[in-house]
Order: sequence, then structure tokens, then C-alpha cells
Amino acid sequence: MKITFLGTNGWYDTVTGNTCSVLIQSDEYDIILDAGNGIAKADRYITGTKPAYLFISHFHIDHIAGLHMLVKFKFPKGLTICGQIGTTAVLDRFVAEPFTVPFTQLPYSVKFLELDEGEHTIPFPVDCLPLVHPAPCFGYRLTIDGKVIAYCTDTGFCSNAVRLARNSDLLIAECGLKSGQESPGWPHLNPEKAIRIAKEGNAKRLALMHFGAEVYRTLDDRHEVQKRFEKECPGLVVATDDLTIDI
Ligand SMILES: [Zn+2]
Ligand SMILES: [Zn+2]
Repeated sequence: MKITFLGTNGWYDTVTGNTCSVLIQSDEYDIILDAGNGIAKADRYITGTKPAYLFISHFHIDHIAGLHMLVKFKFPKGLTICGQIGTTAVLDRFVAEPFTVPFTQLPYSVKFLELDEGEHTIPFPVDCLPLVHPAPCFGYRLTIDGKVIAYCTDTGFCSNAVRLARNSDLLIAECGLKSGQESPGWPHLNPEKAIRIAKEGNAKRLALMHFGAEVYRTLDDRHEVQKRFEKECPGLVVATDDLTIDI
């Protein structure tokens, strides 16, 4: 299964990349995690032969700004947008005239699937748990092609993130802060805390993304994280836009 990081910045686009979006290409589905501006690149990879799913973690703009680009995509097998309860109403306000083309006018069918906390089969298994963030934010745990992928973005350290990461093949976690930095008023992870979630959850591999645009101003800032932590966290992926990994 291929996982491509389409956008790896948190908050806003800079020379280091676009805001958050990840593409998972499984045997049967194309699955996109969040719709930051990075989602614009999804059609470089998606062939349209599989049903597409888009998971929205929360409604901060770095996770939904790219929704106005949905009109350029072709999803002949339809697009299902999954998110917390209330997702349909919130996104219908955002993806609307006079700002952009509404969902009802997209050139393919769009369905919404509002998920409450807990386990669902949609048809693949997904577990949703709230994370620690100023706005309600869901972390997800997807089981696809016999592999488990946990996605925990926009959160401080919390037991739900560890639960989602439990024995996963890949934990994709945010890294809004630099090593040693804290922001108790607006929780985000630094590399140490993301690694702690991966270790306590016994995740096989950790990928960091959502690097704060104000904090990680150059890709060298990210490379420092790789150099400093790869021994402590073997297989560590410090994601950059357009990086593809196989799991
Ligand atoms: Zn964010
Ligand atoms: Zn956020």
C-alpha cells in the first residue's frame, strides 16, 4: 500500500510545502486524510478506478482549505466524506456560493458519512476518537489491506492518540512544535511527544507531518528532526510534500 504525503505544513503554505493532506492508495480504495491545500496534488496519483474516501479531522482551515479544488477532480466511483457529527452542516457552509462550487454541483457524486466516537465499518474498519485540541478534532485508525494506519493530527499528548496508535503498522502524527517546545494553551506535539505516542502505542513506524509553518521555516529544520531522532525511533519518517512510502 502506498502512502503519499501531499501536504505536510501546519497552519499555512510556505516554501516548505502545502497544508495537510495524505493519500493512501489501497487495493480497493483511494483514501485521503484531510483536505489542506496539498489535496490539489491528489490527481497526480489517483486514477479514478476506485471509490474515494476523504476523512476530515476537524475544521481548522489548514485541514479544509483545499475543498474548493474538489471541482477539478474526477471520482467516477464517487467520493465519501467522513468526519465527526456535524460535518455535513459545517462543510456545506464552507463549500458554498459565493466562495466556491457547492458539493451538489460537483461533477461526481458526494456522500457524507458522519461518524461518532468508536468503531465503524464503512466498509473498511475505522475507529474514531477525539484528540486534545481547541476545536473538536478526531483521530482515526483505519484497517486496510490487513494493515493498520493511525492518523493523529492537531493534538497534544493524550491517551486516545496512544489507543489509536496501538500496534499500528504506521502512525502518522503531527509535529507542530520543535524539540522541547510546548504550547499548553493550544496543544500540539513536539517530536519527543509524537515519539512517546508511537512507543506507548507500540506503533511499528512513525511518520511526522503538519510541521508548524512558523516553527519549521526551512526543510533543514525538518532534517534536524530526522538526524536527531532516527536512532531513538527506527524507521522514522519526517515527511515532505510528495514523499511516498510503502507499508
Ligand atoms: Zn492544523
Ligand atoms: Zn487545528
